[in-house]
Amino acid sequence: MSAPEAPKPSNFLRAIIERDLAAGTYAQRHWAGSPGDAAHQGSGALDPARIRTRFPPEPNGYLHVGHAKSICLNFGLARDYGGVCHMRFDDTNPEKEEQEYVDSILDAVQWLGFGWEANGTSHLYYASNYFDFMYRAAEALIEAGHAYVDEQTPEEMRANRGDFGTPGTDSPYRNRSVEENLRRFREMRDGQHADGAMVLRARIDMASPNINLRDPAIYRIKHATHHNTGDRWCIYPMYTYAHPIEDALENITHSLCTLEFEDQRPFYDWVLERLADLGLLARPLPKQYEFGRLNLTYVITSKRKLKALVDEQVVNGWDDPRMPTIVGLRRRGYTPESLQLFAERIGVAKDYSWIDYATLEQSLRDDLDPKAPRGLAVLDPLKLVLENWDEALGAGHIEPCSAPVHPSQPERGRREFALAREAWIEREDFAIDPPKGYHRLYPPKADAAGGRVRLKYGYVIECTGYEQDAEGRVTQVRARLLPDTKSGTPGADSVKVKGVIGWVGAQPVEQGGGVAAEVRLYDRLFTEAQPDAGGRDFKASLNPDSLRVVQAMVEPSLATAAPDQRFQFERHGYFVTDRVDHAAGRPVFNRITGLKDSRGR
Ligand code: ATP
Ligand code: MG
Repeated sequence: MSAPEAPKPSNFLRAIIERDLAAGTYAQRHWAGSPGDAAHQGSGALDPARIRTRFPPEPNGYLHVGHAKSICLNFGLARDYGGVCHMRFDDTNPEKEEQEYVDSILDAVQWLGFGWEANGTSHLYYASNYFDFMYRAAEALIEAGHAYVDEQTPEEMRANRGDFGTPGTDSPYRNRSVEENLRRFREMRDGQHADGAMVLRARIDMASPNINLRDPAIYRIKHATHHNTGDRWCIYPMYTYAHPIEDALENITHSLCTLEFEDQRPFYDWVLERLADLGLLARPLPKQYEFGRLNLTYVITSKRKLKALVDEQVVNGWDDPRMPTIVGLRRRGYTPESLQLFAERIGVAKDYSWIDYATLEQSLRDDLDPKAPRGLAVLDPLKLVLENWDEALGAGHIEPCSAPVHPSQPERGRREFALAREAWIEREDFAIDPPKGYHRLYPPKADAAGGRVRLKYGYVIECTGYEQDAEGRVTQVRARLLPDTKSGTPGADSVKVKGVIGWVGAQPVEQGGGVAAEVRLYDRLFTEAQPDAGGRDFKASLNPDSLRVVQAMVEPSLATAAPDQRFQFERHGYFVTDRVDHAAGRPVFNRITGLKDSRGR
């Protein structure tokens, strides 16, 4: 597969970056080797990074497929344009942040194929390390008359904010003196007031048509212990104030976020312009650009709802292969390359469109088709007995068979296995009363011979009968082999058949027979394409068949696989050895996806 790589599809973000690079918008920035204010950055040399982007998760949960889109976008753009992408934990909220999440996020980003080392330095940052600057910037805003401490109750503040049709009303505290504001703000910092007693607000315009500019809060009191700064602070910056500052301190050029933040962009710019005017931040300033978040059919991506699935044991943990978390997708068998391919294919746009789940599955197939070794597996085994085996080939004969590891890459060699008198075939490859057009095995009738098929890589056989148990369940299919029809021999084409079926030898593995394996057949977790749309109860559309476990028989080459190895089971789809439960001698496979999208739409 050495086709030249197709050029990356362009999108509006690439267009913006290319325009900025052509204009040299960011060419004169200085970078002192670490995040910092204007004085710090000014002491450095010209920034070696042509652009800087960032991936800024809050460490309050596991990442999901939507985050994968954001990771591929931010790290991918930096890579493609000679830039650097910063890995930044947005840990300004003291609650709900845990080391477990930090570790899993770093692991997910690296697994996806990205890193934060560039130009000899690590660009792993924590927003909480900027609290000192954020505080200093807040005092500077107060001193410049751009911020005030408001002591209205939360209810009064809400009432005075107005709404779309009505301008807001100025707070009675809006015009206090700089000295009074500074004194009050320091009292807030020093722990002299209770949570919610007062907030620091930007002083912008209570009549602005953009409600986000009606004097938004920038600091609140919260007596809480922070995982990084401990009890040093009892006031914390609001996200909308902290985020632009984090970007600016890190010399970010293009700050990409999801569309919900579009109305926040004027405040993002307001904060940065004021602080640059005050000499605290270096120009040129970062710019925010919004793209549509990923909505994937049959999937929910709300952290809260995913947590409910875990807590209520609808799934077996965050890495359950049905979860859209990155750990879940990974355990399911998705490759980093397939997720990157998916991110490229869906691209970025400024709208709220839904992406069909089939797009994700197709990316996996396209990635694995040229890579995955093939294998024979029988997922619903039914015993086949070849009655004339001993006469045709000799008693106890074992017939060696082989198949290419990959059908279009002969250089990858062949898999060896063997056929004997008894083998396993798929239950669905036999029918007592075959429907019209059925080209597999069925018993002979008064005036017609039994069904003929080729055992793939083996002989042509003809069904001679079957056995049933007391309940009428077929327990065994009997057939005779047609001598001299073995695949790869001169006589192979002497008998034409329409059906070819998979099989695994029933003799011991030492004689090339199959091995028992647990196979977990995963399907969509929900039966509704938009399980939580319009506030619907997503648990009402859980798919009761999202997991079916079967005892399968697999060819010997599959049984010796290490964990996390992917295969194409011929005719069945793509499977991976489970990274947690698979072990030598006790194989466990997860179905990643079928060979093609079998659902009608
Ligand atoms: P929360 O529900 O806690 O706000 P979040 O999903 O927004 O969670 P963050 O940790 O804030 O999570 O997200 C980190 C980054 O991932 C942000 O830049 C955000 O824009 C991006 N992101 C989150 N969800 C999606 C999504 N569905 N599609 C694309 N990007 C996303
Ligand atoms: Mg968020």
